[in-house]
Amino acid sequence: MPCRHLVIVLGDQLDLDASAFDGLDPAQDWLWMAEAAEESTHVPSSKQRIALFLSGMRHFAQAVRARQWPIDYTRLDEADNTGTLAGELRRAIARLKPAGLVMTAPGDWRVLQALRSVAAEHQLALDIRDDRHFFSTVREFADHAKGRKQLRLEYWYRPLRQKHGILMAGDGPAGGQWNFDADNREAFGKEGPVGLPAPRRFAPDAITREVLDLVNSRFADHPGRLDSFGWPVTREQALQALDDFIAHRLPLFGRYEDALWAGEPWLYHSLLSSALNLKLLTAREVVGAAEDAWRAGHAPIEAVEGFIRQILGWREYVRGIYWTQMPTYLERNALDARAPLPEFFWTGETDMACLRDALTQTLTHGYAHHIQRLMVTGLYLLLLGVRPQEAHAWYLSVYVDAVEWVELPNTLGMSQYGDGGLMASKPYIASGKYIQRMGNFCKGCRYDPGEATGPKACPYTTLYWDFLMRHETMLAGNPRMGMQVRNLARLTTDKREAIRTQARQLAAKEGS
Ligand SMILES: Cc1cc2nc3c(=O)[nH]c(=O)nc-3n(C[C@H](O)[C@H](O)[C@H](O)COP(=O)(O)OP(=O)(O)OC[C@H]3O[C@@H](n4cnc5c(N)ncnc54)[C@H](O)[C@@H]3O)c2cc1C
Ligand code: SF4
Repeated sequence: MPCRHLVIVLGDQLDLDASAFDGLDPAQDWLWMAEAAEESTHVPSSKQRIALFLSGMRHFAQAVRARQWPIDYTRLDEADNTGTLAGELRRAIARLKPAGLVMTAPGDWRVLQALRSVAAEHQLALDIRDDRHFFSTVREFADHAKGRKQLRLEYWYRPLRQKHGILMAGDGPAGGQWNFDADNREAFGKEGPVGLPAPRRFAPDAITREVLDLVNSRFADHPGRLDSFGWPVTREQALQALDDFIAHRLPLFGRYEDALWAGEPWLYHSLLSSALNLKLLTAREVVGAAEDAWRAGHAPIEAVEGFIRQILGWREYVRGIYWTQMPTYLERNALDARAPLPEFFWTGETDMACLRDALTQTLTHGYAHHIQRLMVTGLYLLLLGVRPQEAHAWYLSVYVDAVEWVELPNTLGMSQYGDGGLMASKPYIASGKYIQRMGNFCKGCRYDPGEATGPKACPYTTLYWDFLMRHETMLAGNPRMGMQVRNLARLTTDKREAIRTQARQLAAKEGS
């Protein structure tokens, strides 16, 4: 059959209603999908992440075939697979000789460049269409960002709510406030989370089991393990996961959004990021389901606003930052951080109880909730002074929801302050006392969060004071850091020196 358009579908574009399919004519257009090893090796992807993408792609191809749309699909284990998206696209062009290429805008700058250059080599038009999975376009964000030195979520989020009529009461915000953060973010009481609802997980079917075997043999030395794999890999499963969250966890989402608890990886989080990022769910339907739950009286406004802020707010905002700042964003290192990533980030073998729990759970499930990523793993790397590019490679490797457009601004901008404040108004720094306040880790730890020096000193606390001293001049100019910097004045010269020495010892132990 002659091919008019080859419609490119990437592993994070698993939506049968995507713009790439507008005007599709199955009598003359082909869909193209390829499993390319490079997508799992350009950073050493965790087994969970590889399995999720491959299983999601294979299930999507099955749904495409059920619609009787022609599809050209290369599997990872085919003998002549070149291992790269560009190589596979070249081969497909040679086979099918399309007159043009069509796709929905990809989520990754590197992939966009690779596909563009293949199209140019073959003098084929590449029609890149807006991704209507999102509420906003990158053009809208670029207009918003024009002339602003700093970008702040709040100024982006409120107009989006107004424009799309989300959680509005007439012209004002529902509940009389735009932001309910002050009512959210509690820690659990001494007894911890009582009656936590277990989230819906999905037993691997035959397609997923085949993928798990493939990943275990082909990527045996990649981080993590697969015995707990239970992520949604089809649209039907993703919808069930959404229903499960709305029914059982949304009402307490806001209250415990920032809480930590040992051995409890899921708490009241939605676990929807991978389904959203693979486009098994649209941002609109997730936000709509949460708003409906509030209107039906099932969940309070604080929880629903807090949740919607993450998706309509943060998620759209980081996408805008990524696409307006790339490719130079990738290289930014405003704090001139040079230490390497500690080796134990790949194994979880550390005696710091909070970090061990976050890392072990990450390697087991490919998941950690936001405050673990920001204030446990991310905080440690920031305080230690690890190169933001190494932190970025780690976060992009390990999480099932990791796609560069969302991972990079969160890591380099929000967590590591590598963009010097473009995205976050201050570095997110804290001592071990913050972790103590938000959870129960410190009780079971050999360190003491109140100590900055000595054998029981909590490494977070030592490194927190050392960070403040290292960056004192820069931080003193930031009005939001005033109190933290002023506290430095309470340290005697001897104490400062002792902290510096202990911080140097820690850095030497981590290989810096
Ligand atoms: C260092 C670092 C790296 C991160 N890397 C990723 C990543 O690779 N992919 C990713 O999707 N998120 C990333 N995040 C954001 C956030 O941590 C995850 O989206 C969230 O933990 C996913 O779990 P959940 O679905 O249970 O989220 P919930 O807590 O239930 O939140 C609901 C949804 O809101 C969205 N969301 C929440 N926070 C953010 C945020 N800061 N930016 C963008 N969307 C957000 C997600 O789609 C999430 O599913 C990162 C955060 C940090 C600090
Ligand atoms: S004492 Fe420090 S290292 Fe130990 S759990 Fe508390 S914050 Fe983490």
